[in-house]
Amino acid sequence: MKKNICAILVFISIVLNFTSCDSSRNKYYEKSNIVMDTVVTLSAYGENSKEAVEESFKKLDEINEMASTNIDTSDIYKINNSSGESYVQVHPEIMKMIETSIKYSKLSDGAFDITLGPIIDLWGIGTDNERVPSDEEIKAKLPLVGCDKISINEEESSVMLQKKGMALDLGGIAKGFAADEVLKIYKKYNIENGLINLGSSSIYAVGKNKDNNKWSVGIKHPRSEDSKNYLGIIKLSNEALSTSGDYERYFIKDNKRYHHIINPKTGYPADNGVMSDTMVIDNDDEDKNMLADLLTTTVFILGPEKGLNLIKTLPNVSCEITTSDYKIYTSDDFKDRITDLNKEFEFAN
Ligand code: AMP
Ligand code: MG
Repeated sequence: MKKNICAILVFISIVLNFTSCDSSRNKYYEKSNIVMDTVVTLSAYGENSKEAVEESFKKLDEINEMASTNIDTSDIYKINNSSGESYVQVHPEIMKMIETSIKYSKLSDGAFDITLGPIIDLWGIGTDNERVPSDEEIKAKLPLVGCDKISINEEESSVMLQKKGMALDLGGIAKGFAADEVLKIYKKYNIENGLINLGSSSIYAVGKNKDNNKWSVGIKHPRSEDSKNYLGIIKLSNEALSTSGDYERYFIKDNKRYHHIINPKTGYPADNGVMSDTMVIDNDDEDKNMLADLLTTTVFILGPEKGLNLIKTLPNVSCEITTSDYKIYTSDDFKDRITDLNKEFEFAN
């Protein structure tokens, strides 16, 4: 998988050499790098575009060092390593992600759950150890899952997992959180136009593109290898977009696709016919990218009916859900926002 990421990065760098422009009025700076296991591309127009982008990459490294499950100095590693034993003091940013996750776990009746660590480990999807675990193995780990088993001491900013063997995984929220932090840095440097792109799964479109139009973002066709073959296009300005898909990390065994979005009730990859979903949020809330990220994962698990019911209750949030029969379900106002709809797909409502 790393090899694929490197190839994408080389391709992006080549494209950038041809697209970068630099006028004294509106300096353009763009950079791509692999952070949080994904290709991050940050672009910005403005007097301080370089400073904004470089500082953003530093911040992304910092977030990765706090949130990673593998780095033994990270807050999450320490929490997991102390499960069933002791509280661990954490950075306020990690606390924010954990508390938000618990809130949305309750709101989604447990569909979003950051305590899936032990089950995610069993499947090993996207690693060299990916495999289909036995029913017994999964059943043995399920009692370790549940946000109600996370204890928080607000005063000391510390966290403890109540049972030995529990483990947190912030994979469904950390990239969105990181995009919010990059946006804060862009604001500090007065960047009014630019694109924040974390692996295409968390995107924030700042202002307009160089032609003074909204940014056009292609939603990936969930079953096409051709990166230019889109499901449709969404035009964005000062909005957050997130996509979750069963094509991001998966393997196929005996004709069945096993992907990285796990149903916490069963311990198996969600199997409700959803192939991908996309969320757009336009509000002034400083958590919009984080919310978009966690909601795509949540709605993927909930499926079209329950997913759309949840989205209806959230202001300024709209979405589409694509199912394996090539139907696209949208929240009320979202159908009109998808242009250049791929002929293989049709709207379900
Ligand atoms: P995303 O690509 O944003 O949908 O996030 C998927 C990632 O979130 C996975 O790779 C896991 O790290 C984690 N994850 C998987 N299933 C869930 C779930 N039900 N709730 C929260 N996080 C999850
Ligand atoms: Mg997500």
